[in-house]
Amino acid sequence: MSTIFERIISREIPADIVFENEELLAFRDASPQAPTHVLIVPKRVIARVDEAKPEDKELLGALLLGAAEVARKLGLNQNGYRLVINNGPFGGETVPHLHCHILGGRPLGWPPG
Ligand code: AMP
Repeated sequence: MSTIFERIISREIPADIVFENEELLAFRDASPQAPTHVLIVPKRVIARVDEAKPEDKELLGALLLGAAEVARKLGLNQNGYRLVINNGPFGGETVPHLHCHILGGRPLGWPPG
């Protein structure tokens, strides 16, 4: 069964897409937790970072570089921003398709809840 993110990647369901390249897609989170809240996902499915393999190293690097590129594109680099990857139930993961949250536009508290 495909995840909601695979259905966004295949354009089966709509999303507010802010960036795309051959291996990544970035779109606005449907339930934003900050003035800017974007998810960036690899098009090739890796369920979560815990399931990434050594052969995924390049894609994982691309994901982080892509996140920084999106943050710059949205002007978040001026004041700073946060990247978050939730892994498993205690990490708050709800969609089993690796994704990096890009959060910005307000000061973010630490530690997270
Ligand atoms: P996580 O809890 O880290 O797995 O993050 C999943 C994120 O996906 C949540 O922040 C949701 O708000 C977001 N989300 C779920 N469905 C959609 C959707 N159709 N379009 C955009 N964001 C979504």
